[in-house]
Amino acid sequence: MEFSEIVDFLRNYDGKPIRLMEVCGSHTHAIATHGIRDILSDKIQLLSGPGCPVCVTPTAYIDKLIDICLEPNTTVATFGDLLRVPGSKESLNEAKGRGGSVEMVYSPMDVLALAKDHPDRQYVFAAVGFETTAPVYTLLLDNAIAQGLSNIKILTALKTMPGAISYLCDNGAQIDGFIAPGHVSAVTGADYFNDLADKYSIPFAVSGFGAKELVIGIYGLVQMVINNQPQVKNYYTSVVEQGQNDIIVSQLNKYFRPADVVWRGMGIIPGSGLLLRDEYASFDAGSNGLDEDNKQNKACRCGDILMGKATPKDCPLFGKVCTPMSPEGACMVSEEGSCFNAYLVRR
Ligand code: SF4
Repeated sequence: MEFSEIVDFLRNYDGKPIRLMEVCGSHTHAIATHGIRDILSDKIQLLSGPGCPVCVTPTAYIDKLIDICLEPNTTVATFGDLLRVPGSKESLNEAKGRGGSVEMVYSPMDVLALAKDHPDRQYVFAAVGFETTAPVYTLLLDNAIAQGLSNIKILTALKTMPGAISYLCDNGAQIDGFIAPGHVSAVTGADYFNDLADKYSIPFAVSGFGAKELVIGIYGLVQMVINNQPQVKNYYTSVVEQGQNDIIVSQLNKYFRPADVVWRGMGIIPGSGLLLRDEYASFDAGSNGLDEDNKQNKACRCGDILMGKATPKDCPLFGKVCTPMSPEGACMVSEEGSCFNAYLVRR
C-alpha cells in the first residue's frame, strides 16, 4: 500500500470510534511536533498515557531530593528536566537558590567522576525513568563497586511499563490499542508486551519516532483494532528486536526488585517500581516508602490525563495559571509531558 493511501485511510476513516494511547514521552512529543493528530479522522483519538518519567514522579520524591540537597556535605546529581518539577513547596531549582547543593549532569557516569574527585562529599543520584534508563544505573553501580566508591547513592523512582499499562486496563481506561513505548521496546524487545496483549485482548504497535514511522504504526494499530487482532506488531524493525532482551532483564534483576510504588496522580501501582535489593541497601538514599502525592494543586488533572480520562484542555488551569514558564503540574514541566505538548501546539 502506498504511503499516500495510508494517510487517506486515516484521514477519511469513518468507522467506529477508536481510542489509541501512546505510553512513551518521546512519542507524545513527536506526535505533537509532527502534527500527527491533524491528519487523523475525528473518529481516531490519540491519547497520551503515563510515558513521561518526570510526569509520573511523585511530589514526595522531589521533596525528599530537596531535603537531601540541603544536608551538609551532600550533593544531589540529576538530569536537567527534574530541576523545575514542583515539589509540595518548591522545586529543586528553588532549593538550590537557597543554598541546596544540586549538580546537573548529562550521564550517571558524570557522578563517578565527581565522587572520585570529592571523596569527602556524598553524591545522591536522582534515578528517574523506565526500563530505558534503568540499565544505566546498573552500570553506575557496577562501576561504583568496582572502583570502591562508597560516596555514591541513588534515590530511585524507577518504574516499569507493564504495571502501568495493566493498571490502565484494570481501571476503566477505555483504550482500543497502544502505541508501545519505542525506547522501552528498543531495550526490552517487542515480545515484552506479548503478555499484556494476551491478557487484555488489546493490540500493540511498536513504532519509531519519525512522522512517517508514526503514521505507519498508527495505521497498523488501527487495522489490528478493526480486525480484532490483539497482538504485538513491530513496525520499528530497524531498532527493535522481536524477541525479549534477557540480558537487560537479568542485569536489572541483579540490583533491583519489583516494588509497589506511587505514580504521580495515579496512586500506588503494584509491582511497577524498581527498588534496590537488600544486599545493595548501602547505595540507597531512602527510596522506599515515598508516600502518595496529595499536595499538588487540587485542580491539576494530570492523573486523569495520564489515565486517558481527560485531555489537557479539560484542565481549568491549562494555558492560564499553568504554562511551561509557570507549571502547576509535572505534565507541563517536561517536554515529554502531555500538557507541555498540548500547549506547544495550542490553537
Ligand atoms: Fe496539571 Fe497544568 Fe496539566 Fe492542568 S495543565 S493538568 S495543572 S500540568
